[in-house]
Order: sequence, then C-alpha cells, then structure tokens
Amino acid sequence: MSPVELAIFWVLFVIAVGLFAWRLYLLFRLLLLGQKENRFDNKVHRMIYMAFMTLFQWCSLRGVTRKDLAGMGHTMLFAGFLLMLLGYIIFIGFAEGFGLSRFLTGGTFETVYLSILDFAAIFVAAAVIWAAIRRYIVRPERLEGEINIEAGIILVLVFVLMVLHFCIVGFSYAAYGVPTFWPIIGGALARFLAGTAISQGTLIAVYKSVWWLHYLAILGFLVFIAYSKHLHILASFPNILLRGLTPKGALKPIDLDKAEILGASKIQDFTWKQLLDLYACAVCGRCHTACPAQLSGKSLSPRELILNLKEHLLEVGPGLISGKAEAADPGKALIGDIVTEDEIWACTTCRACQEVCPVSNEHIDKIIDLRRNLVLEEASIPETVESALRSIEDRGHPWRGTTLTRTDWAEGLDIKTLAEDSDVDILYWVGCTEALEERSKKVAQATAKLLKQAGIRFGILGAEESCCGEPARRLGNEYVFQLQVEKNIELFKQYNVKRIVTACPHCYNTIKYEYPQFGGEFEVIHHTEFIADLLKQGKLSPAQSNGGLVTYHDACYLGRYNDIYEPPRKVLSSIAGIKLVEMEQNRKNGFCCGGGGGHMWLEEPGTKICTLRVEQAIKTKAQIIATACPFCLQMLEEGMKTTVIETPPKVMDIAELVEAASHTS
Ligand code: SF4
Ligand code: SF4
Repeated sequence: MSPVELAIFWVLFVIAVGLFAWRLYLLFRLLLLGQKENRFDNKVHRMIYMAFMTLFQWCSLRGVTRKDLAGMGHTMLFAGFLLMLLGYIIFIGFAEGFGLSRFLTGGTFETVYLSILDFAAIFVAAAVIWAAIRRYIVRPERLEGEINIEAGIILVLVFVLMVLHFCIVGFSYAAYGVPTFWPIIGGALARFLAGTAISQGTLIAVYKSVWWLHYLAILGFLVFIAYSKHLHILASFPNILLRGLTPKGALKPIDLDKAEILGASKIQDFTWKQLLDLYACAVCGRCHTACPAQLSGKSLSPRELILNLKEHLLEVGPGLISGKAEAADPGKALIGDIVTEDEIWACTTCRACQEVCPVSNEHIDKIIDLRRNLVLEEASIPETVESALRSIEDRGHPWRGTTLTRTDWAEGLDIKTLAEDSDVDILYWVGCTEALEERSKKVAQATAKLLKQAGIRFGILGAEESCCGEPARRLGNEYVFQLQVEKNIELFKQYNVKRIVTACPHCYNTIKYEYPQFGGEFEVIHHTEFIADLLKQGKLSPAQSNGGLVTYHDACYLGRYNDIYEPPRKVLSSIAGIKLVEMEQNRKNGFCCGGGGGHMWLEEPGTKICTLRVEQAIKTKAQIIATACPFCLQMLEEGMKTTVIETPPKVMDIAELVEAASHTS
C-alpha cells in the first residue's frame, strides 16, 4: 500500500469502528436506564447453554418444521458466517495496515485459509439466496406484515461480500500469475481471467478496486449491524446467556413494602434485562404466528410489542440519559400509545411466544408488569376482572355468583376435611373452579373417587380452602395474590401439610413454584402424574372404556410451563378401548384454550381462541377431547357451542375418563 492508501485504510477503519463503538456505548447506557435485576448466577450453566443454543444453532433449528425451513437457512448462514468472520479478521489483520501481509505469501497456509473461506462463501451465498426466496417469494406466514427493507439490505450486503471475496482471489491470482486449483471458485475465476486478453495492469487495477470495495463492505456491515435490526446478531448472545433460570411458571414477586414502582408505566420501569430483550429480537415472527391472541384477531402481537417497545426506548432513551425532560418526552405514553390496554389484556400468558423465540425473549413478564401498573396504580381494570378480584378478596374465590359451597361436590363421598382429621398423607387441593363451578365439580368427584379406590389417605380443606391466588397474580393484582398466599401457607403449616395433589394446573404451578417465594415449600403433584403413578403401582386398574378415539389437549400451565406431557398420555393409553390421536398442535406446540392469564374472567371480543382449538380437535375425528385442567374443560365446552358439527365430541377430564372406565369393571 502507498502511504496515501495506508492513511485511507486507517481513516476508514477508525471511522467505522468508532461509529460501531459509539452506538454500542449508547445502547449500553440505555440498558442502564432499566431497573436492577440479577442475572449473573449459575455462570457455568449459562455458558454451556448459550454455546449449545448459538454455536449449534439449536435456537433456530428447534423451530424448523416441514412447512417452515427458515431455521435451516439461518443455521447455514450462521455457520458460514462464523468462518467468514474469522476470514475477515484475517483479511483486515493481514492487510498491510496491520503489517501482517508477509504471512500471506501464496504458500500452503494461504491456500488452506482461502479454500476454507471459499467453501464458507459458497455456503453463505446459498443461504442468502435461500433466505431471499423465503423472505420475498414464498413468504412464511410469520414474516407477513414485517417491514423488510433492512433485511433486504443485509442480504444484498452479505451476498456482495461473498462475490467480492471470490473476485479478490480470482483477480489477484490472475494478476500475479499464481497457478492454483485451490481455492475452487477463486482458482477457477483466476484461470478463466488468465485465459482472456485482459492485461496484467487491468487485472491489478480491478483487484485493487475489488479489495477496497470488499474492505468498505466489511466496515459498512459492521456499522450496519449496530444501527439496524441486525443488532440481534450481537445482542442475542448475551440475551440467551442471561435468560431467566427461575421456574418457567413463576412470575417475579413485588416487594410491596418497599417497591417504589408497581409494574411498568414508563420504559425505564422495566429491568435492564427486559430492555436487552428488545435489542435481541431478530424479527423472525415466530412468536407472532404462535400467539393465540394474534391468531384469533386480537390486537396483541408479541413481535410488535417487542418492536414497539424497542422503538420507544431508542426514541426516549437518549433524552432520559441526558436528563433533558423535553427530549425524553415525545408526547407518547407507554401504556396507551406504545402498548394499548387491549393488547395488555389480550394475553392469556400461554407461553407459546417464549417457547418458540430463538433468542430467549421473555414477553410475558413485560405484559404482566404493564398489567400490574394498570391494576395497582391506575385502577384501570375491566369490569369483569374487577368483580373477580373483589370476589377473591371478599369470599376467597373468583366465582362471583356461584351458589355452591366448597364441600357440595363431596356430598355422599365420605371425605373428611383436615379440620376433622388431619392425619393424612395427602391434601387434595380441590381448587375454586372444581369446587364451585357446576361442570367442573364432576372432576373433583372423579378425582376423589380414584384416590379412594387406590386407598390413599387424603383429606380436603373444605370451607377453609381459599383461592391459591393465581388469577389475581396473572390479572396484575399482586396485593390480593400475596394476601391469599400468606393465608394459605399459614393454613398448610397449621395442618402440617407436606404433599398436595391437585387437578388444576394453575393451582399446581402457583403452589409449587410461586409459594416458595414466600416461604411455602410443599411437594405438589398434579392429578395426572398421581394417577399415572397409581396405575403403575397397580393401585388403579381401569377396565374397558367405550371412549374410542380420544384426543388430548395440553393445558399450557401443565405442558409448556411444567413439561408434563407424558403422564396424561400414559393414563389415557392405559385404558383399554381408548385410542389416542394427536392434534396437529400438541405438546410444546400445543394451542391455548383461551382461559389462562385470568381470561376466565375477561370478555373475549371477536373470534374466540377456544373455537380455534375446538376446530383443531374436531379435525382429528375424536369422540372425546380429554384435558387435565378445569379452565380448559370449560373453554373447550364453550368452543364446542359455536361449532356446527353433527356429533360433537365430549370434553372430559382425564380423571373422569379413568373413573368411568373403573366403574365399568
Ligand atoms: S403468552 Fe400467549 S397470548 Fe400472551 S403474547 Fe405470548 S403467545 Fe400471545
Ligand atoms: S421476540 Fe423472538 S420469536 Fe418474536 S420476533 Fe423477536 S426473535 Fe422472533
């Protein structure tokens, strides 16, 4: 390089790296606007997980289906690019600016190095073409509505980088007469150019031009990453590294005595990790197409939620850092303008979004924080929710208007309360819905009968049982939740309760994973696990059932939140006469019934989520839809009402099916 070229090399390098570093510094300072949160525990575990998810690209591959192979393309792009990145470091490092060019002398090292890059470039170019086809020609549903100019720029830039790489090798080898077969593409181009009438001077001039173009493209790419949505290339690594390690179903508690902020009403009310999520979003749209609220036509899209929050952070954040009030106030309220109340209430907390997110984004805690603010600070609560919350406070259950008592379902079953006899092995926690809702009480009866048949020494709390608090927490009222928790823990301790069986996945999740936050550690078993175990031990032996074809609906709080997928299926398979058939969306990919997140007490406008799920179940031609959650049971029966079908399938809890089969023996 001439002294002038050397100067240009360094000026460009400093400008690009400076712009890159400046942007990262700003983004880092924006994160510091967030509230404190400790995500630095379990370092080794975190590192291993991140390496697995990113280097092996499991985060992308786990979303691959036959219908949507985009994760494969991303993996190819990533693998190729990792090699190219190494190549670019060497490219710039070996440039004369750094004085290392003496190592590239056309020897074996250079041939091997360039050949590896050649293969990587072929790989990346193929992946880019694949991505472009997927993005612009056969677009998967999840990319609909996405503004994709940035994605187009990045694909073109990457493709140009690959082509320039081939050209550099081809023109330099042709110009300087290096006879070579390797690298394959560069070598072939060099042989082709050498066979033409192009003069050596022209070849050298083109080589130099291409070299500078390549250099400019690499630096441009570096800057573009930091300023575009492709920031996820950088942010997804720390985001996956620092993902939540607490149980999936445990919302973070609010210290009600000390908290200055109840929920989030401003972007800086989120924690720094919640803000990091915004940078990490790859705009892949997986959460958008998995979201039952979105699929049923509600305004909520988890993808748009994340993107709107990010845009808002970038808009107001610099003003907040500078402390200039006018710069920090664009005249938009976080709740209302950036995220609407409809969006906040539309979430069923089904966790489908988080399950599919390749960068481990956590959408639900943000939505709950916004809800908490609406409920605890603004008292802006839908009427039906307010009524349910008041009912929990006044009567200890959310089923306002019920005429049932906590023990009506147990009439004639000879079941003792702990007040009558606390010398039991198991507390059967019935739950508000199964005790106080007409249809669901049959599930409580079936469960209790099975426990009796198996000879289990159990008792109930009867009139002393009170809501576990789950609906209050999901509906944003942490006060009511914590009051219920304290009351229940005290009662459990009073009766020396150690093991709890419940048929409600919501009670199960809350008592098992949220009560420990308040000092209540109990062994909690869902009735599907318990029944599966009783069957294994031979304590239950259901006979023939006339159930026929049965499909199982995974409750979100049993499946996605607690990974209980097999016990209910094992129970069903153990009943002779039942043939299990799966819906297209099952297990981790299961589709919400629409009842979680407090939605049992929310009016649902437009198409009902439960109707969509029932339609999926009907496609299986099953005669029975089995489930293991009282909310799902009600919602699926609700969905059945709006479905026109000659012989509608029955909706039954697993316990009812086992009990009915035991009955026939
Ligand atoms: S939790 Fe479910 S309903 Fe809520 S945003 Fe995620 S996918 Fe949508
Ligand atoms: S939040 Fe996750 S799943 Fe949703 S668009 Fe962003 S990266 Fe994709």
